[in-house]
Amino acid sequence: VFSNVVRAPEDPILGVTVAYNKDQSPNKLNLGVGAYRTEQGKPLLLNVVKRAEQMLVNDQSRIKEYLPIVGLADFNKLSAKLIFGADSPAIQENRVTTVQCLSGTGSLRVGGEFLARHYHERTVYIPQPTWGNHPKIFTLAGLSVKTYRYYNPETRGLDFEGMLEDLGSAPSGAIVLLHACAHNPTGVDPTIEQWEQIRQLMRSKSLLPFFDSAYQGFASGSLDADAQSVRIFVADGGECLAAQSYAKNMGLYGERVGALSIVCKTADAASKVESQLKLVIRPMYSSPPLHGASIVAAILKDSDLYNEWTLELKAMADRIISMRQELFDALQAKGTPGDWSHIVKQIGMFTFTGLNSEQVTFMTNEYHIYMTFDGRISMAGLSSRTVPHLADAIHAAVTG
Ligand code: PMP
Repeated sequence: VFSNVVRAPEDPILGVTVAYNKDQSPNKLNLGVGAYRTEQGKPLLLNVVKRAEQMLVNDQSRIKEYLPIVGLADFNKLSAKLIFGADSPAIQENRVTTVQCLSGTGSLRVGGEFLARHYHERTVYIPQPTWGNHPKIFTLAGLSVKTYRYYNPETRGLDFEGMLEDLGSAPSGAIVLLHACAHNPTGVDPTIEQWEQIRQLMRSKSLLPFFDSAYQGFASGSLDADAQSVRIFVADGGECLAAQSYAKNMGLYGERVGALSIVCKTADAASKVESQLKLVIRPMYSSPPLHGASIVAAILKDSDLYNEWTLELKAMADRIISMRQELFDALQAKGTPGDWSHIVKQIGMFTFTGLNSEQVTFMTNEYHIYMTFDGRISMAGLSSRTVPHLADAIHAAVTG
């Protein structure tokens, strides 16, 4: 009965790694993966995570019962504090409901399904371009997806005018997906002043902000700085949604640990919203997994572990920032034609190089360097040892 099933195409991002794995060259380099790598090119298990896991294992009272539908209570409370700030009035006034979900993706999906059922406007605006999973998540959640201008290929920076124009002409009440920091794939973020203008425009049109926060602390090295955009919106007392992921900032990728928070105008609304979130979650996966959330809660609640986490997080962010500088310097030294300053200006794990798909294909075929066809490279996949190889390849691609 399944012989007529048509083969689905490979996921464009995960497909890069499939091709990389098949390559026999000793010089092969995978800059497609969205996961941190050490200077030696290896995945990193944070020391603080090892310590938290050890504590959990040593805890004789530990059990493996189901979590409630909304997940681990401590984890939810601490996650809200992390993104909104410890002194957030919205938290103090019990206007926030937070539910543990399956990493960032699951949080976006649960938020999307809730909105499709209970919010009056079914259109969500996503930036052009954005993470490739966004349109699929929201479409399958039952929303209709439209885009707003975000990136200007000429300046390799923000198309701020275009963004304001498109949000300005969106229907009143529409949902707007915003990357809290380290926009993927462009690495281009609004400044704080621009966020403030975006906020004013969105509030004046009653547009509903839905923040995707997949890189808090991982972008700048500061957990507070990377949550500024979200906090500006929460400070005005209005509603918003936020999807958090601990994949990058705690290196908990495969544990699938994240949270969805919905900030409401009143505590009563928040508690009603939570009751409906349970009805979204229960038939999908009943309740979320225990282990990852226990690790996160252990780290967030213990000041010693928390401090160690911030140091390890900063070290990851700093290594990425120094890779940006080294790549930029290498291209300058070679006299590669063009302005490459966007490499040091962009924020977060990715650089949107501006290389086109022919240049990407050339670099893969001739230099065994793998990346997505939009020219996005993961700076976390680079090391001081591999920067010269990448600089050679970029030089050859743009001059050849
Ligand atoms: N949003 C963005 C912008 C991302 O880049 C990612 C990870 N690539 C996610 C959400 C979700 O990741 P996860 O489900 O692994 O937390």
